[in-house]
Amino acid sequence: MVLLSPSFWSFCLLSLPLASTLSVPQKPLVGESEGGVTTLTSDLAFDDVEFNPTDYTSLDEWNPTNWDYDVVIVGGGPGGLAASMSLARVARTSLLYDSQEYRNDKTRYMHDVLGQDGEVPLKFRSAVRKQIEELYPDYSFWATRKTKVIGIVPLEKGFRVYDDRGGKVTAKRVIMATGIKDVLPDKPGFAEAFGKGMFWCPWCDGHDYKNRKIVVFGKLASAIGSALNLRKLTTDIDIVTGGVLTKEDKEAAETRWPGWETVIKDHYNITIWEEDVTSVERTTIGMEPQDDEYKVHLSSSYPLVANGIIIHVSTVQTSRLHKQLRLEMDGNSVKVKNNMESSVSGLYVVGDANNDNSTNAYHAMWSAKRAAVNAHVSMSKQEYLDSVPSAMVAATGGDEDFYRNQVEGLEVQIGDDVEQLYKVLGG
Ligand SMILES: Cc1cc2nc3c(=O)[nH]c(=O)nc-3n(C[C@H](O)[C@H](O)[C@H](O)COP(=O)(O)OP(=O)(O)OC[C@H]3O[C@@H](n4cnc5c(N)ncnc54)[C@H](O)[C@@H]3O)c2cc1C
Repeated sequence: MVLLSPSFWSFCLLSLPLASTLSVPQKPLVGESEGGVTTLTSDLAFDDVEFNPTDYTSLDEWNPTNWDYDVVIVGGGPGGLAASMSLARVARTSLLYDSQEYRNDKTRYMHDVLGQDGEVPLKFRSAVRKQIEELYPDYSFWATRKTKVIGIVPLEKGFRVYDDRGGKVTAKRVIMATGIKDVLPDKPGFAEAFGKGMFWCPWCDGHDYKNRKIVVFGKLASAIGSALNLRKLTTDIDIVTGGVLTKEDKEAAETRWPGWETVIKDHYNITIWEEDVTSVERTTIGMEPQDDEYKVHLSSSYPLVANGIIIHVSTVQTSRLHKQLRLEMDGNSVKVKNNMESSVSGLYVVGDANNDNSTNAYHAMWSAKRAAVNAHVSMSKQEYLDSVPSAMVAATGGDEDFYRNQVEGLEVQIGDDVEQLYKVLGG
């Protein structure tokens, strides 16, 4: 039997930051509960009433030796599903939670995704799940349908994840693909129209309205941008600005689109209505989107009739996990590094929820792929290093320098592999 010297162990411990991309939170979230039992406590769920603070894990579970899953995936949209498949391809187990609040739930068809153009989003998700279930039953697991993650606790080398059905699991990494929600003005007809004639993304829905009548509703500078993006599809466009244009509105438009007044009004023949939209009314429900007809009611003129309405809306995170985890934000988006890792190491945020500034199905899938690759590589690294001591000591007779060189060599090699992989993936 090989006896390990204390200095060897201290070296191993010192190597941990090098070895692991995970770090122990600076201030362990530990406190005393009633009865003197030590628990992880305090402000983890300060903003989430659904997360029962008495259910925190005990301190002896701070560093589990066995993990329930390699990765927990939060979200069952294109981002979460892509992560599930990608991890299974390299034999990583994952558990996917899905609260069934999909951003594109209201839309009739998904567009601009190869092989899926015109597919119903629900059918797309079902087909992907079926394929993953059939091909990777040993690796991809699903939480009971419609289960919401209500809390994520960082542990020493991973996470404990709590759901709203009272379940909790551990995983070495977490990928959050939790999406965003569009915040619509609280006006009659808007909620019903959104995704069914009212839209924001010319690439997603614009083609349905080729040569049809479109109303663009929003602040002048952004509305002009949308009108220009649509003009190849249709020239029958009106802009409604939400009210009388202020000096600031006009200046903002001029800065972004110099000479806008002449070009938009005179050359492109687009009418600008300095009014608010009070409500929208779907007067014809067509067999296909382009055959719908809407009345767009204005504050002081007769209604405009349109087949489609483009709207500019603000968005919020669908989940509150970013608050519970106190993730660093960039406006309403979770700030991530190039590898999709958030400010909590080992926790990745992909898709609409992150600050890549791109919100479409491709981006969700691509960013999930990148996170899955990073998660896998960092776990492989950790596993190697965790298993090094006895093997290395046996091979080297306890030569710490040799061990150190090997580890550093491995870091470089794995880093290169990832770089090459990204290049191949076009990253
Ligand atoms: C009307 C409309 C039409 C669109 N059309 C297109 C289109 O044609 N083509 C295109 O490319 N893009 C389109 N988009 C954009 C597209 O829907 C998004 O970019 C895409 O859905 C983002 O994927 P995601 O996985 O990041 O998030 P989502 O698809 O929104 O999925 C988020 C997932 O996270 C889950 N979740 C959130 N919080 C929790 C929690 N706490 N616990 C468990 N689960 C949780 C949700 O239930 C859901 O499963 C459209 C968007 C809208 C609004």
